[in-house]
Formats: sequence, structure tokens, C-alpha cells
Amino acid sequence: MTDLVIGLTGGIGSGKSTVGQMMEIKGASLIDVDEIGRSVLLPDTRTFEQILNHFGKDILQRDGTVNRKKLGNIVFSNPSELEALEKISHPFINTTLKMLIRNESSPVVVLDMAILVEKPLAYDGSVPLYDRVVVVESLIEERIARLKLRGLTRPEIHDRFISQGSDQERRAIADQIIKNDGSLRDLRDKVDEIWTLVEDWLAGLTSGCIS
Ligand code: ATP
Repeated sequence: MTDLVIGLTGGIGSGKSTVGQMMEIKGASLIDVDEIGRSVLLPDTRTFEQILNHFGKDILQRDGTVNRKKLGNIVFSNPSELEALEKISHPFINTTLKMLIRNESSPVVVLDMAILVEKPLAYDGSVPLYDRVVVVESLIEERIARLKLRGLTRPEIHDRFISQGSDQERRAIADQIIKNDGSLRDLRDKVDEIWTLVEDWLAGLTSGCIS
């Protein structure tokens, strides 16, 4: 049974998925919330139908699947379109997460999620599904360089930065911050350090010491 759920977040390209994978090696179960988000686009699902009803068939590629880049450019340049997509996707993500966490056998589950401060995502009603928040931060130039490597243009990177919360907002709700400002080896050392804290959190939660 899972005793501790960690919400792992950070700005786009900060390195949060890398930290998540390192935590998985330490023994956590890793759930990629963004991947669950992407599954709402799969053909023949209810969410796919709802998305088509709202955004129209122009977002489809020749093979009938959603052109994610096209949809991304629509929603990340227009807040009301992003809200419309989230109204369809977030209830599905929350229900799926609740089910996945309930079925987990590992004591620590890490939710790798780009959206945490911005919207009540990974919630059960008004209660977060996570017990602690770990935030990954990285220099903006490093993030831009990583996103360029992924094929995003400057305007696309700009729109995605704007649509996300800031480091300040994330810092305000963080139980722990990981500064990803060195090599991957440095990052692994930091995750090793944080893991000692995770074990303390776990011990506190299971003994009822940490509220
Ligand atoms: P997104 O928000 O788009 O999901 P992310 O925050 O999860 O991005 P990652 O996917 O973890 O970021 O990292 C982006 C890329 O940067 C990956 O290829 C990863 O290997 C690389 N990377 C992350 N941290 C470092 C580092 N300290 N040194 C070198 N490469 C790094």
C-alpha cells in the first residue's frame, strides 16, 4: 500500500522527469501525469470525441489522430482554449490517478506533473492526492536550450513559459527544492540527499508524526 505520494513539478525543461526517473531507481513508483494527459487524445475515447467537438476536425492529421503540436500551439497561445481542454482532460486525469494510486503496492509514489501550482490537478474533490511537493528548478537558459533540442521554436517556448506558473509560485508551495544547475551526476547526488528526507517523511507519515 502507498503511504506517501509526492507531487514532483517544475517548469518545462527543468529536468523533473529526469529527477522522477532517479527517484524510481531509489524505489519509488513513478506516474507520468503528462502521459495520462496525452491519453485523452487517443481515438475512440470519450475525451477524444469531446475534444473534436470543441476544437473541430482541423486538429486531426491524415491518419485521424490528433496533431499534438497543432493543438499545443492553439491552447498555449490562448488561455480560454487551454481552459476548455483542461475542462475535458482534468476530470479524466484525476479519476485515473486515484485509481492508479489505489492499486499501487510501493510505499512511495511520485507524480511527475508539469501542472501543479497552476490548477487543482491530481485532486480528489478539494483534497490533493499528493502529501508532499518537490520542485525542480533550472536556469532559464538551460531550459531553453533543452527545449530547442526537442524541436520547439522560440515563440513556442515563450508561449509554454507564459502558460505555466513561475518558479516563485512553485517555491511557495514546495516542501523541497532541487536545483538542477550542474551535471546529471550532480543531480543524482541531490536526489540521493532528498531520498533521505523522503524516508523521514515516510517514517513520519506512517508513525503519524507529520501532519
Ligand atoms: P518537460 O516539462 O518538457 O516534461 P522536464 O522538466 O521533465 O521537461 P526532462 O525531460 O527531465 O525535463 O529534461 C529535459 C532534457 O534535459 C532531457 O534530455 C534530460 O536528459 C536533460 N537534462 C536534464 N537535466 C540535465 C542535467 N543536469 N545535465 C544534462 N542534461 C540534463
